Amino acid sequence: MSYQIAIDGPAGAGKSTIAKKVAKQKEFIYVDTGAMYRAMAYYLFSNHVDPENEALVAEKCIGADITIQYEKGEQVVLLNGENVNAFLRTEEVGNMASYTSRNPKVRERLTALQKELASKNNVVMDGRDIGTCVLPGADVKVYLTASAQVRAKRRFDELTAKGEICDLQKIEEDIIKRDEQDMNREIAPLKQAEDAVLIDSSSMTIEEVVKKILALCR
Ligand code: C5P
Repeated sequence: MSYQIAIDGPAGAGKSTIAKKVAKQKEFIYVDTGAMYRAMAYYLFSNHVDPENEALVAEKCIGADITIQYEKGEQVVLLNGENVNAFLRTEEVGNMASYTSRNPKVRERLTALQKELASKNNVVMDGRDIGTCVLPGADVKVYLTASAQVRAKRRFDELTAKGEICDLQKIEEDIIKRDEQDMNREIAPLKQAEDAVLIDSSSMTIEEVVKKILALCR
């Protein structure tokens, strides 16, 4: 049986930074499920599919073959065979993913891929519905959160460090909107699994959070 660590939480809570570090320590693979939803959104966006048109999203998503592989320990998302990592981390694609991820067909396809990966490998998997839907039997479940203000500031610092010009207020508004969409959708909404450990990282360092999760694995 593989060992499964599920980390869920809202946008900008630091899930991927922390999940990567935990995976490295444990020598597990890190599966960033948000990147898969982003790749799907990128595909639909590139094909000019209106994200509000549920029937069209369901029809067109079948054309997106999304797989992942690892290069030097980094997850690479392949969309119809092409590495699309470079296009996924923008706010635009993230916001679009929050729309298209509501679609049952999109979720069905990506959840199946995630379950398969976790059945064959020891994983640290992060997302919105990992502890509740994708890996309900995970060995360790964490719900990682932080205040919207703190999350917006972290995102702002991250983007500014990359040389992007951005507006803190707008980032916070987008984060709140995205939380609301992710928490209130019909299928697999973002919520803390009953058996997940809540970690509020608002006033914790990355290392403190990593340590806490590693302690939960013992
Ligand atoms: O985590 P990240 O910001 O990359 O996720 C982008 C979007 O993908 C989220 O806002 C959410 O709507 C969707 N998502 C999801 N289920 C997951 C991971 C991400 O619905 N397991």
